[in-house]
Amino acid sequence: MINNSGSIAKIAGILKKSKSILFITGAGISADSGLPTYRGIGGLYNDSTTEEGIPIEMALAGETLKKSPAITWKYLSQIEKNCREATFNRGHQVIAEMETRFERVWVFTQNIDGFHHAAGSRNVIDIHGDMHSLICATCRWQGTVKDYSEISIPPICPECGRIVRPEVVFFGEMLPEDKLAVLQRELRRGFDVYFSIGTTSVFPYIRQPMLVANQLGRPTIEINPEDTEISDFVDIKLRMRAAEALDAIWSEYRLK
Ligand SMILES: [Zn+2]
Repeated sequence: MINNSGSIAKIAGILKKSKSILFITGAGISADSGLPTYRGIGGLYNDSTTEEGIPIEMALAGETLKKSPAITWKYLSQIEKNCREATFNRGHQVIAEMETRFERVWVFTQNIDGFHHAAGSRNVIDIHGDMHSLICATCRWQGTVKDYSEISIPPICPECGRIVRPEVVFFGEMLPEDKLAVLQRELRRGFDVYFSIGTTSVFPYIRQPMLVANQLGRPTIEINPEDTEISDFVDIKLRMRAAEALDAIWSEYRLK
C-alpha cells in the first residue's frame, strides 16, 4: 500500500487534468464481486475438461452451440448460477460515478455479467455480450432475463419454439460489428487517459487501445495484481485489486 500511495496520487492528478477516460475491464473487476475468473467468460472451471469429455472451450464454442446447443447451455447456465448471487462492486460503482463527473467516459469490457450496466454506467461496449440477453436466431425474437432461474435450459423461443441463444460471443465466433464500430468511433475521438483493469490483455483487440494510447503519448494506467501483456509499457502500474484501487483513486481525486 505504501508503494501504491504515490501512484494513486499521480493518477488522481492525471484525472484532474482529464475530460475523457476509457476504462478497459476484464474478469479481475468482477472477481472482486466474488466471481471466479475463466478466460474472460467468468466461470467455474479450473479443470479444463467437461463431463462430456470435451474441453470447456469446445463446450463454449460457437460450433458446439450450433450442433449441440444443450451442451453449451448446460455449461453457460452453470457459470450463470455461480454468478447469480453476485452483483457489481465498488469498482463498477466508481466507474459509473465518474461517468457523471467527466465529459466523456466509456467502458470497454470483456465481461458478460452485465455489472457495469447494473452499476449505472451507460457508455458500455460489452464486446463479448451479456448473458442476460437472449435472441432467437430463427425468428429474431429478443428478450432479457434477470437470471436463468426464470427459463428452462436450454431456453425455448416463445415465438417459434426453437432453442434461443444468449447474446454472448462464444469461442470461435466473430465480434459484433456494431459494437466494434462504436469502439473504433470512440478510439478515433481519443481519450485523455486510458485504464486497463483486471484483464490479462491476451486478446489483441483488448490490448490494442492501450498500445495506441501509448504511441500517442497519452497516459496509460494498468490496475492488476499480476503482470500482463501490457505491464511493460504502461505509464503507471498499480498492483492492486480493482475495487480497492478504484475506490482509493476516487477518494484521492475528491480530496484534491
Ligand atoms: Zn424464434
